[in-house]
Amino acid sequence: MNKHYVFMNIINKKTNTKILYQDSFVTAFHDINKKAPIHILIVTNKLIASLNDVNDSDTILLGKLLIVATKMAKKYHIDKSGYRLIINCNFHGGQEINHLHIHLLGGKPLGSIL
Ligand code: 5GP
Repeated sequence: MNKHYVFMNIINKKTNTKILYQDSFVTAFHDINKKAPIHILIVTNKLIASLNDVNDSDTILLGKLLIVATKMAKKYHIDKSGYRLIINCNFHGGQEINHLHIHLLGGKPLGSIL
């Protein structure tokens, strides 16, 4: 099932999900099923299904995703201790919601996945 509407509803404030940050490009909120003490999703306001679907016109948007991720890391005081950013893409990448987003994870040692 194409689950893009989940994040669109959050972006459009049709749910009671607390918005941590929003500008004209991206929206940030806590992951509902957190995998670390800090687990924030930074989502594009524009519906882009996956990282496969970006093009040159999204250069600024992609930059915004990263910049806001670093802002959230500072706001939640995990910038110094460190954090991990993850973008899952499609089935093998473990993507569940078909709406481009970055996971910001931190607040404990995350170990090595590579
Ligand atoms: P993906 O696997 O697509 O990279 O990540 C999707 C993430 O969205 C998962 O970590 C999941 O817990 C989170 N998620 C799914 N539904 C909701 C929801 O309704 N609210 C919030 N805040 N997070 C959600």
